[in-house]
Amino acid sequence: MNKEQAVNNLDTVITNVEAARLSLSDHHIVKIVAISKYNTQEDIQTLYNAGQRAFGENKIQDLKEKSINLDDTPIEWHFVGRLQKNKINNLIDLNPALMHSLDSLELAQELDKKLEAKNRKMNCLLQINSANEDSKAGVSSDNAIDIYTQISQNCKNIKLQGVMSIGAHCDDEDRIKESFDITKGIFDSLKDTGAKFCSMGMSSDYELAIKCGSNMIRVGSSLFK
Ligand SMILES: *Cc1c(COP(=O)(O)O)cnc(C)c1O
Repeated sequence: MNKEQAVNNLDTVITNVEAARLSLSDHHIVKIVAISKYNTQEDIQTLYNAGQRAFGENKIQDLKEKSINLDDTPIEWHFVGRLQKNKINNLIDLNPALMHSLDSLELAQELDKKLEAKNRKMNCLLQINSANEDSKAGVSSDNAIDIYTQISQNCKNIKLQGVMSIGAHCDDEDRIKESFDITKGIFDSLKDTGAKFCSMGMSSDYELAIKCGSNMIRVGSSLFK
C-alpha cells in the first residue's frame, strides 16, 4: 500500500462514516479503529502517516511484535481477538488502550486476578454474541447485562467501558441489523453505569452498524487495500 492509496482508503471510510453518523445525529461521534491483523508494520506506518491513530490486532504475538517494531510511533493499540488464559500476562504487559473481546465471566475473573498481581488496570469491552452464532465468541445477549454488572462489581481492576459485537455473518441485511440492534439495546441500558463505547461494524457493515448506533468501528480490509 503506498501513501496515496492509504490517503484514499482513509478518505473513503471517513466520508462514509460521516454520512452514516450524520443520518443519526450531528452529535454522534464515531471512532475508527484500523484492524491491521493481515498487514505489515510498513502498511501500518503508512496509514498512520495518512492520519489514522488507533490500530487493533487479534493475536497477542502480532500485537507484541508490531507494537515493539513501531515503538517510535505513538499508536493507540487495541486488542480485538480471543484471549487464551495462558496469554493474559502477555496482554497486560502490552498495556493496550482497549481490550474489546472480554468474552466470559471466567476470563474476566482470571484477567482481574492477574491485573491485581501486577498492580495494573485494563480498559475492556464485554463481547456479546448477539447474532447467537456458535462460531463466535461472546456472552449471550440474555446474560450480557447480568455478566456486565458482575464484572463491574467484582473485578475492580477491569475498567468496563462498554460492549462489542460482530454482526451476523450473512448477506441478509435485516439479520445483521437485528444483531446490531440487540447490542445497541444492551449498550443503552448500561449507559447509566458508565458504558461509553459500542464497538460494532467491520468493512462490510460499518455504515449499517453506525446507523444502528455504533460509536466505534473496527475496519480492516477497507483501510488496507
Ligand atoms: C478482522 C477483524 C475486523 C476487521 O475486519 P474487516 O472485514 O477486514 O474490516 C474487525 N473486528 C474483528 C474482531 C476482527 O477480527
